[in-house]
Parts: sequence; C-alpha cells; structure tokens
Amino acid sequence: MSKLKAPRGTQDILAEDSKLWQKIEAEAIKVFAAAGFNEIRTPIFESTELFSRAVGEDSDIVNKEMYSFTDKSDRPLTLRPEATAAIVRAYNEHSLERAPKPHKLWYRGPMFRYERPQTGRYRQFHQIGIEAIGSKPPYIDLEIIQVGMQLLSNLGLNDLTLYINSLGNQASREAYTKALKDFLSGLQEDVCEDCQRRYQQNPLRALDCKQEADQALYKNAPSLQDYLDEESKEIWTAMLQGLDKLAIKYIVDPRLVRGLDYYSHAVFEIKTSSKELAGQNTVLAGGRYDKLVKDLGGQESPAVGWALGLERLASLIENKTETGGLYIISDSAMDAQILARKLRQDTNNSITIDYDYNSSKFNKQLERAIKRSYDWALFYMEDERNSGKFKLKNLRETVEYNDLDYDAVVARTTSCNAL
Ligand code: ATP
Ligand code: MG
Repeated sequence: MSKLKAPRGTQDILAEDSKLWQKIEAEAIKVFAAAGFNEIRTPIFESTELFSRAVGEDSDIVNKEMYSFTDKSDRPLTLRPEATAAIVRAYNEHSLERAPKPHKLWYRGPMFRYERPQTGRYRQFHQIGIEAIGSKPPYIDLEIIQVGMQLLSNLGLNDLTLYINSLGNQASREAYTKALKDFLSGLQEDVCEDCQRRYQQNPLRALDCKQEADQALYKNAPSLQDYLDEESKEIWTAMLQGLDKLAIKYIVDPRLVRGLDYYSHAVFEIKTSSKELAGQNTVLAGGRYDKLVKDLGGQESPAVGWALGLERLASLIENKTETGGLYIISDSAMDAQILARKLRQDTNNSITIDYDYNSSKFNKQLERAIKRSYDWALFYMEDERNSGKFKLKNLRETVEYNDLDYDAVVARTTSCNAL
C-alpha cells in the first residue's frame, strides 16, 4: 500500500520542532502579558463575506488565496487567511467597545492561503499577533512595535531591521494614488499580469508585487511621504520621534504599502538579513487600520496590530532542545510506573520522568537514557525496592550517588544547582 502524504503546502511539526515552537509561544505569552495584552481565540473558519469585506475584494488574498467552500447547508465559509478581520468581527459582535480602551489582544494559530509553496511560504502557516483597538495617538503604534522587538530580541534575534512607512489618511492616499496611477500608466506593457490588474483595481498594491523585474520598474515611483497632508504629517512625525526616543532603529521605506486593503497611517515590517528564508525575509508585519471596525458594522474605533509568521521565525532560531529530567532504570515496568507517578507528583511535574515499558535489559535502558539526553538515571531494582535506598547517576558528569533516600532523590533532581 502506498503511503499518504500531507496536502501540498502543509507540514507536520514534529516533536523536536514543537519544542522550539513552544519556547517561542511561551516567550510571546510572557512578553504580551507583561504589556497588558490578553489572548483571544476565534474560529478557524468564518463567513466568506467577512474576509471579502475586510481584506478587500481585489486583494491578492481574496482574489487568489482563499480556501473557500460551502458547507452542507450551502453557507459560504472560508478558512481564515488572517486573524485581524475575525478579531474585529468578535470585537463588534460582543460589543467589546464598552470595555476600557484600548482593547489589547493577542492571538496565535493556523492561517490558510492558497499560495505557491516555497521556503517560508506555506498554505497552512501559523501566526502569532497582537491587536490594540480603540486608540488613535501613535503611542500605541510605538507600543506594539516595541513589544514585537522585545519578543524577537528575547528569542535571541538581533539581525532584524524595522522598515516603516506612512500611508497617511484617506485624503493623502487618494492624492498619492492619482500620482502613482500616472506613473504606472507608462509601464503597463512591461509589468506582470497581476500588476496590470492592480493598476486597474488598486494601484497602490502594485508596489507590494513580489516580482523583482516589476520592483525594478517601480524604483522611481513617487514617494508616499510627499503626499501626506498636515494631519497625516503630524502623526507621522510623532511616530518617528517616538522611535528615536525608544532607540528603535528603523528605515523609512517609501514604497512599503502592505498587501491588505484596510491599512492607513503607519505600516511596518521587520525583516531578517539571514539567507535562510530566501526571498521570504519578512518575519513580522503590521499597521494601523482605523476604518476597519466601522466598515465591519461597529463604532468608529481606530486600531493597530501586527502578525508574525511562526514558521519563518522558528527557522531563524537555533533549535537547541534538551530533554533533561530523570530516567528510571528497573527490571519491573510496573514498579517503575508506580515510582514514576509518585516522583512526578513530588517534583510538581517540573522535570520529565520516564522509564522503560518493556522491562528491557539493564544496559539497553541505560543507553536509551543517555541517547535521549536525560540528566539522571535512577536505579530501581530489587535491592533498591527492598532497602528504600536509591542509586542516582548524573549522566552528564558521570557522578554517582549511592544510598540516597527518596526525599534526597527528589531534592537533588529538582534543585537547579544539582548538576
Ligand atoms: P508576504 O509579503 O510575505 O506574502 P504578507 O504581507 O502576505 O506576507 P501578512 O499577511 O502581513 O503577510 O502576514 C504576516 C506574516 O505572516 C508575514 O510577515 C509572514 O511572516 C507570515 N506569512 C504570511 N503568509 C505566509 C505564508 N504563506 N507562509 C508562511 N508565512 C506567512
Ligand atoms: Mg502574502
């Protein structure tokens, strides 16, 4: 019989990688909690209309990338391609605007986009993100950027650069779009088919094209910065001054527009210079979306957020996984099991405690403990069972402790200085 494979563009996260993912998630939870963000969990699928309204009918996501289907009652549904629209839907549905503002939320989970699979680009991928809904001044933009930087630096990533731009308010964007359209009109014979469509439907988005040849043609496009009106300029200046005060380095990229329809004012991306990710070097991306809450039927509530790609982030972090813990070596699987249960309780589940289920040969058990990089081997043969005294071996330093009573085993294996 032939083996089945996971669907194209999806991948299994096996045990070793899962440990790294857990480490990233644990760090994220810590950093978010310290900054007053609470978790929100929304459904994996939503009504298709939510995304076509929020992300934009002519965005790449809605146009080409959605996993849409009808269920058995003919409801049009879509596996979420991103979480912001769903969070705003939940915000409105539960009237969260009644709570003190801004409402600061974080999320994690799988997203689905029908893209061409390649390094750093999958059809099911995972994001961790934050959203702050209900505050307009740029201090909250600065706050979420700072939180993102903190998370990445806690994870040991330092070769990252923040790219930032302002899309301005609606009036600025309209003025810019006109100028951009004039510029693009001369290039239409040379750009890709997608960009020809973008030119017709949403010229701004041409600047987000992934084709290098097109990007080269857009090098001399007019700069958004030159089209900001007074209000937009004021917000933008405060934003950049704030970054300076926080000593966060940035590069203003006047052609950074982001692929979703709902952004205004600040948009940003954090990119790595590592070659690991080939072209997919944007790890974290976000921006301000002041109109979205109202567009989805809620009260006007300015908002800002970002999302990071877990697969891309994980590939940049060295996976140093250590099992640690204690392996019971015994000629009786049943006795080892009883002891393991007691030890797990008495160590508050703070270390891994495992044993051999097959009562294999003594040497084989010891080999396994070493191979799986346990810190300790605890011998539990007939002698130990009768005397209540244990032999404990430190597998890293090959030191042995004999005649330990049970409490001493617990104390030694759980103390951080024990090794
Ligand atoms: P890109 O320009 O790379 O297509 P995007 O602008 O579509 O990214 P966002 O919607 O802003 O991406 O998502 C935020 C982050 O999620 C990205 O910076 C990236 O790290 C990750 N991401 C997006 N799409 C994918 C994907 N198909 N596979 C893996 N990670 C992804
Ligand atoms: Mg994309």
